Amino acid sequence: MIKNNGKFIIKFEEQDKKFVEKLNWKKLDKGYHKAKEFFEGEDISPIKICFIYSPEEFLFFTGWLKLEKWVVACARNNNTIYIFAPSVVEKYTIHKNIHFYFTLLHEISHFFYRQAITSKDFAKFSLWNEGIAEYIANRKKPQNIDSHLSTLIEFRDEPVMNYKAGHLLIDCIMNEFGSTGNKKIIQFLKETDSNWTQKELFFKFEEIFGMNANILIELQGGIKK
Ligand SMILES: [Zn+2]
Repeated sequence: MIKNNGKFIIKFEEQDKKFVEKLNWKKLDKGYHKAKEFFEGEDISPIKICFIYSPEEFLFFTGWLKLEKWVVACARNNNTIYIFAPSVVEKYTIHKNIHFYFTLLHEISHFFYRQAITSKDFAKFSLWNEGIAEYIANRKKPQNIDSHLSTLIEFRDEPVMNYKAGHLLIDCIMNEFGSTGNKKIIQFLKETDSNWTQKELFFKFEEIFGMNANILIELQGGIKK
């Protein structure tokens, strides 16, 4: 079945018909605009949302071989989001179906990130990509992290930290810099690349934001004492 409201097109099965009928399009639209404004982007339309009904189907559409239970959705080419259907999400992932909107807005943020940060290695900056997506989705922000950030690119061995620490970092920047925070973030991402050493990245951060990244988080109470 297909539901098309112009901006979003959803492909789903009968078992999710009621869910789709009750969908809060306004909420989706609001999140979409938050992402668009954050990245000062161009419209991305239509956004296609394909409900997934099994891990095999997820693999088929995304090519993602290392599917783990925390993976619930994926933003791919042609503005298509593959997301476990509300009717099966609790069976195949650790996510609750009430988190559907968080997940969808998170993925929409990735489209705008990709549009704004066009350098070839944009995807490596997971700390920022996931952090901004969590901020856009307006998920409850983590209170603090256990230690100073050791990287400004990504936590390769502990992917969940990209979401948690990334969200905290973005939140601290937006609190500190208000309406210029997003511009500084985009500038940082455009003027760096993943071949840089951590030292160079922290130096660049300080140049753009006027203070050390960890001090910024500490000042906002984001690092456990
Ligand atoms: Zn993500």
